[in-house]
Amino acid sequence: MNSSFNASTQASSELLMSLARPQARGLPDYNAGLAPAVVRQRYHLPPEQPLACLASNENPFGASPAVARVLAELALSGELSRYPDARCTALRAAIAAGLSVAPERLVFGNGSEDLLKLLCEVFLQPGDRVLTQRPAFGLHEIYPRLMGAEVELLDLTEAMTFDVEAWCTALARGPKLAFVPNPSNPVGCAFDRAAMTRLLAATPAHTLLVLDEAYYEYARLKPGYPEVLELLHARSGPWIVLRTFSKAWGLAGLRVGYGVASDAAMVALLDKVRSPFNVNHAAQSAALAAWNDPAHMQANVARTVRLREALAARLRALAQLGQPGHPFAGLRIAPSAANFLFLDLGQPSAPVAEALLARGVIVKPWKEPGFTHCLRVSIGSEDDNLRFVQALMQVITQALDATVEPTHGHAQVA
Ligand SMILES: *Cc1c(COP(=O)(O)O)cnc(C)c1O
Repeated sequence: MNSSFNASTQASSELLMSLARPQARGLPDYNAGLAPAVVRQRYHLPPEQPLACLASNENPFGASPAVARVLAELALSGELSRYPDARCTALRAAIAAGLSVAPERLVFGNGSEDLLKLLCEVFLQPGDRVLTQRPAFGLHEIYPRLMGAEVELLDLTEAMTFDVEAWCTALARGPKLAFVPNPSNPVGCAFDRAAMTRLLAATPAHTLLVLDEAYYEYARLKPGYPEVLELLHARSGPWIVLRTFSKAWGLAGLRVGYGVASDAAMVALLDKVRSPFNVNHAAQSAALAAWNDPAHMQANVARTVRLREALAARLRALAQLGQPGHPFAGLRIAPSAANFLFLDLGQPSAPVAEALLARGVIVKPWKEPGFTHCLRVSIGSEDDNLRFVQALMQVITQALDATVEPTHGHAQVA
């Protein structure tokens, strides 16, 4: 690269900035984390060293074996030169039957992220008010801001759970749209049936309620978690429940999410703005094959929930050793209904996450002000989780040795 090339890219980047909508220019970057191959290369990790990929809440056990079969058939079918079915007819029929809703009330997306964006594009204008929680799922904040909306973020309670009272009060003020994550990503807390009933009662009819249930299949195993489709029957205002094939169904790489809307008219509106072929053929076939094998999904979910409780117990035991000055003294673990845990380390999490990367463990440190001591770790296989705990113990005890007088020594924990 010579200097005239650099000068012209500088000029064109200023031009680009002036051409871009201010709402787009001002957005924060989405914190998508590093791909495993990049981590391996950057930290010179040998190919035989297994990585624990615990940053993106993926399913470590994979999709139904039926998925591989239909993808192989599709590859050989000659169908890939054709556009996919723009209406996802077969998948729509299967999910509609499974959930006992009319097929016209379903909308499909290239992941449920696609649907989050679509909802913002269809419903939000500059100045509209949107409600969600803090810390937020990044896109619940980014997409409304892209449309010029203002996002109000509600704080958690001290116990790192939803503040039901604050939610009811804020909903009663009638925001244009509310993203209600249940359970929350990144925290994992969930509204139970009683809390959800109160939320719905507090929300005026002119607010569009978006229930993001990306972790529904995990949360269902938690006693008291509401079947929100049953509760929403009684609501007169518009609503949509979003679910995804990316988490419990093990298909994050293929990108399929769906929404169950309060009525077909909402779907018709979303269809006008939706990219017509937003769910590709492989994704539709794979999602249908996965949907038809619920036993596989349920077994993986049950396994993950058991492993989550085991990891939480292990971390709680570390935290309880924590006299002041002990390396794990500040550790707090938020209760989770999902396939991840949100930890407050009691110290900045970014350097810890960085040191974990060098040990082949990928987690997600939080960057939002107020949460820079927190990180989210997805529940992996038993081996992944063990690697995480061992690497965390090494990193935290070494960091303490390096910064505090040596008398505190190492954590003596099994
Ligand atoms: C993972 C996730 C999604 C989106 O997943 P897709 O892969 O786009 O279907 C949406 N909302 C929340 C809260 C999530 O955690």
